Amino acid sequence: MSVSKPRYFARRDFQRLIDVLLDCGYQCLGPQEKDGAIQYLPLDQVASLPQGYRDVQSPARYQLQTTDSPRYFSWANGPQALKPLVFAPRESLWHSKRDADGRLQFVETIPEPTPLAVIGVRSCDLAGLTIQDRVFLHGDKHDPYYAARRENLLLVAVNCSHPAETCFCTATGNGPVAEAGTGFDLLLTELNDGYLLQAGSTRGEQVAAQLPLTDANDQMHYEAGQQRLAAEQTMSRQLPALNIKKSLLQHQEHPQWEAIAERCLSCGNCTMVCPTCFCHAEQEQPQLDGEASVHERVWDSCFTVGHSYIHGMVFRQETKHRYRQWLTHKFSTWHGQFDSSGCVGCGRCISWCPAGIDVTEELAVICKEQPDA
Ligand code: SF4
Ligand code: SF4
Repeated sequence: MSVSKPRYFARRDFQRLIDVLLDCGYQCLGPQEKDGAIQYLPLDQVASLPQGYRDVQSPARYQLQTTDSPRYFSWANGPQALKPLVFAPRESLWHSKRDADGRLQFVETIPEPTPLAVIGVRSCDLAGLTIQDRVFLHGDKHDPYYAARRENLLLVAVNCSHPAETCFCTATGNGPVAEAGTGFDLLLTELNDGYLLQAGSTRGEQVAAQLPLTDANDQMHYEAGQQRLAAEQTMSRQLPALNIKKSLLQHQEHPQWEAIAERCLSCGNCTMVCPTCFCHAEQEQPQLDGEASVHERVWDSCFTVGHSYIHGMVFRQETKHRYRQWLTHKFSTWHGQFDSSGCVGCGRCISWCPAGIDVTEELAVICKEQPDA
């Protein structure tokens, strides 16, 4: 469906949105400050939202500051997007046990999640989720574990008004505002006194119909437009203006891979915080008596030794090979696999890299020259 026209929703009524979602049977998750970062956590009181918080991000730095702003969403993002809510960091895929006759029985453990409403989703998070959908749902391997959680998700997006210094969603075409068709059910634009609210789905419309909304005036539309412009102009990070996809493939022996490896710790943080990385491993958790076992899926990373272990050998022995794999997959071979880039410009891999390695800077060095035709 098309996106509804913006209507005004006063900040003093925000609790009503939470109550309506809870009354509709959703568990509500919303951004909150915890352990010095913005995280999506269970929410039933508007007072738990991070009012006045700002995040200061730069390579290897994430810090929250408080201000006297009445806004709830004047920060860019936290360490995780929506990925852990649909692609669980650790989950059981099936378990096996012996029946009375001693035969092994295998039982699938498809989750039956409570419907989940997430408030505060960014446009880059929506784009990350669309990519995850492509990986887990649209290929020839429909993943029932991911699908069960995904079907139960209602998304209340909020346009980004305060991008971090590490953000570059304008360069990837994924922000700072959420466009029609990007998967939100409701969309908020935060203004000084309240919000412009739009519905992007039938479910979103049903929630909006229960809220005290009034007509938006010209001043509100103007404020929203200026805010968008300011957010776009804040983002200075760029991607090389040439064919990155081709250039990376042509520069697989570039000396910069070695230079990166001298700084890279191969810790895998960049892949853990990335909203699109989907690598995982599977492992058994057998009971000590051998009578039962749980088969688990856990997040993995192209930076671990085990991830490139195959048939008795590790084929990405050195850090430079692992970083090259990661960057080349994200910005080049992902296109062939999923028909898009694997990067949505959220900047998390820059802030949460303990060595402060910045993908935009590394791409600028490696993809400096125009690739051969
Ligand atoms: S590669 Fe970095 S900037 Fe791009 S989506 Fe992943 S974490 Fe975000
Ligand atoms: S690039 Fe940074 S976050 Fe990624 S593995 Fe290397 S040190 Fe860790």
